[in-house]
Order: sequence, then C-alpha cells, then structure tokens
Amino acid sequence: MTAGHATRMPAPRSRRPLASTLAMATLLALAGCAGPLALPPPAATGCDATALGTHRTLVLPREGAAYGRVQHGPLPLGPREVVLTFDDGPRPEATPQVLQALKAECVRATFFLIGEPLLRHPELARRIQAEGHTVAMHSFRHQSLPSLSPPDQRADLQAMQQAHRSVLGGDPPAWRYPYLHESDALRERLREERITVLSTDVGIEDWQPGQSPAVLADRLIARLRERGGGIVLLHDAMDQTAAAMPLLLRRLKDDGWRVVHLQWSPR
Ligand SMILES: [Zn+2]
Repeated sequence: MTAGHATRMPAPRSRRPLASTLAMATLLALAGCAGPLALPPPAATGCDATALGTHRTLVLPREGAAYGRVQHGPLPLGPREVVLTFDDGPRPEATPQVLQALKAECVRATFFLIGEPLLRHPELARRIQAEGHTVAMHSFRHQSLPSLSPPDQRADLQAMQQAHRSVLGGDPPAWRYPYLHESDALRERLREERITVLSTDVGIEDWQPGQSPAVLADRLIARLRERGGGIVLLHDAMDQTAAAMPLLLRRLKDDGWRVVHLQWSPR
C-alpha cells in the first residue's frame, strides 16, 4: 500500500482500562466514533468491481495506545467502516480458507497470532503477511494473563515477540489479550514498548461451536448496525468461521459496510 492511499492519524491519548470485565466494560460502549475520514478508495488492484474490497488503510503511530469500545475508546473510523481482525491462528486446517475468502473479495485484515502455532507453522504465518495482511500478537501460550505473575506475563510477551521476529522479522506493533483479559502489569510494559492494545467493538461468538454461516452472518450484521461499525473480532482458527467467511464478506458488501485495513508506522 503506497503512502498516497494511507491516512496518518494521531491516535487518541492512551487510556487506562477502566474495567477488566466485559460486563462492566459495556458501560463504555456509548463512546462515539471519531470524525469521518473522507478518502477515495484505493486504486484498482485487479479486483472484480463487485468485490467487497478494502476501502482505505488507516496507519496508526507506534505508541502504547488502546482501542476497542468493549474496553477502551474507538478507533478513528468513519460511518459504516469496519476493521476485520482474526485471532488464534495460524491453524493449517482453517486459516488458509480464511485467506482464500479474503483474497477473493480483495479484503485486508489484521491477524493476531499465537506464538506456539506461529513457530509450528511459520510458512503459514509468512503467507498471511505476504498476502498483505497485518500481523500482530495474541500472546505466546494463550493463557489468561492476570492469572500469571507479572514476570511470567512479561516472559510471555517476550517469547511472543521473539517468535514473531524469528519467523516474520521486525517488531510486531499490536497486541490483543487472550480472552480480552487485560492486565495492568503487562499494559505498562506494552506502553513502554509502544505496542498498541487492540480490544474490539463487535464480537459474534464464533468461538462457540455448532453455528452455521447464516447464523454468524445475521449476528454480524445485527451487531454492526447496533454498534455503528468498528473493530470486528473473528477467529481464523475456527472451522466454522472459515466456512462462513464467503457469506460474512458478501453480507458486509450487501449491507454497505466498508473495510479499513489497519497498519502501523515503521519504528
Ligand atoms: Zn484468543
């Protein structure tokens, strides 16, 4: 993506988590969106005109900010804009199907990878990156971090950073806590390292087994209408999510949602 297609925005000031539980955090859901960013869509990339496409790229600075209205403030998104994020991969049984669906609709997303499978499937992680998606961290072992001692929390972050560097190169710019269980001790370290915390605005419980593509798609559209867009949390490691991706992307297009690709400025 060239600079001409990107928007460089100052991030809102970092906010401390007000609550570690989703129940309390829903109180924060009333925060409104930042002003719209009127930008032309990227130039044609060989995508079919009927594809959902990637409307624009939002480049965030490297700083210890936190976003996602479930626990923090909103990303600076405009009306009907969504950011697609995928957790818990890479998983060879499901992630390639997700990548295929995204490619078919010319959509760029952000993948929050777990360190252990990242080291087991480096070629798949490199494929995610090579296909133009943003890669970020979802911890090394996917434990609930507040249950660990602060040194163990920092060790998990370090192991994850090391895994990312060894497979993908560079310093990963963002972090999502497993189960969205935030920890003040790790948050301090993330701030020091200027790593963005990304929570979410819209989840569709795609981690609960036994849900059809139609059920997931209906829930996605209903929640986006309710929330007015924002960061969508999905799981590329789930078979049912992978199977639902073509329908989810079609429904986003049909309902008029526009995909924003998140990137971070180089260090
Ligand atoms: Zn997870």
